[in-house]
Amino acid sequence: MNKTYYFDNNATTQVDKRVLQAMLPYFSEKYSNPSSIYKGAQAVRGDIDLARKQVAELLNADSFEIVFTSGGTESDNTAVKGVASASKEKGNHIITSQIEHHAVLNPCKYLQLNGYDVTFLPVDRYGLVDPDDLKKAVRKGTILITIMYANNETGIIEPIEEIGKIAQERGIYFHTDAVQAVGKVPVDVKKLNVNFLSLSAHKIYGPKGTGALYIKNDSKCLPLIQGGHHERHRRAGTENVAGIIGLGKACEIVKKESPSYCKKIKSLRKKLKSMLLSLVPDIKINEHPEKTLCNTLDISIKGIQSQDALIMFDQKGFCLSAGSACSTGVPEPSHVLKALNFPDDLINGTLRISLGKFNTEEEITLFSNTLSQIVKKSRNNNRT
Ligand code: PLP
Repeated sequence: MNKTYYFDNNATTQVDKRVLQAMLPYFSEKYSNPSSIYKGAQAVRGDIDLARKQVAELLNADSFEIVFTSGGTESDNTAVKGVASASKEKGNHIITSQIEHHAVLNPCKYLQLNGYDVTFLPVDRYGLVDPDDLKKAVRKGTILITIMYANNETGIIEPIEEIGKIAQERGIYFHTDAVQAVGKVPVDVKKLNVNFLSLSAHKIYGPKGTGALYIKNDSKCLPLIQGGHHERHRRAGTENVAGIIGLGKACEIVKKESPSYCKKIKSLRKKLKSMLLSLVPDIKINEHPEKTLCNTLDISIKGIQSQDALIMFDQKGFCLSAGSACSTGVPEPSHVLKALNFPDDLINGTLRISLGKFNTEEEITLFSNTLSQIVKKSRNNNRT
């Protein structure tokens, strides 16, 4: 197979070998159902408890506040729909932002069709929610505020601590989708004043199809998936044991190693940005000077079509995205860039480079030179 150069770590990450090693026994000798009574099963139950502790320790939460799910999408759906069903007597108003992931936007739209009122807050040119807009939107009957910690396309980091304070002072539940934040910025649920927080294993070098929802203490949220008594009645279904063990290990590694690998990623991003600025004329870097994730570089280039550029990159072994990977294949322009008031021609020329802990300096140089060639070729083709 030809070598590939992976620059799409916001879409998913490569599983860390130590995570894979930790998971493997649960596909073979440790296959018992953790709900069974015999010794082998109870040992597996103990291992799940350890994984729960590993997730909790990363978030500064208590173990019982962690509910394992099938990933970020399920965690988001559980928080949004679960709070809505549990808080019917209190009201029917939810506040979110226009740049949320579809895992939050679509459950909100579903609730709108079912009698709930949803405010989709606008954002500024960087994608930031204005806390004053939030204060104005709150009213009697507001049951939930759900604002993402960091955006998957642009990497903008929202003022979560401030938003959490606003929610707490008004006695409103606050959920944050921290799928892109965990592993890139410190996430401390106590400091953030959140009631609910979503995370996903496959964005932090863990397996796909596993995630967690932090539910603060006694915050009321009905389960999305009903059945047995698993996860203290908060999420039914026989546990995805290997996935949960993988998530726990991934969180343990993030806690120990993310300060050092984030430092490395930050310096790779700096090099990438400066190379692109010097090699590619008329390039726009879509970033906030301080509040952008250390790994995400979103760029807009006049005179190119990002979908065509992605194909050219793919032919040379480079993996990256135009807008959100989750919406690739959908012809509509990114709802995030639209909310930032980007004109259509700029949206069509936008690429997202998302770095990870396995990227190297050589790859950055190779990528920058390749982008420069692709831009020259595209601009020449478009001129003729
Ligand atoms: N939220 C954000 C911000 C994401 O970036 C993603 C995935 O890209 C999700 C939620 C969905 O997570 P999962 O793929 O684990 O369902």
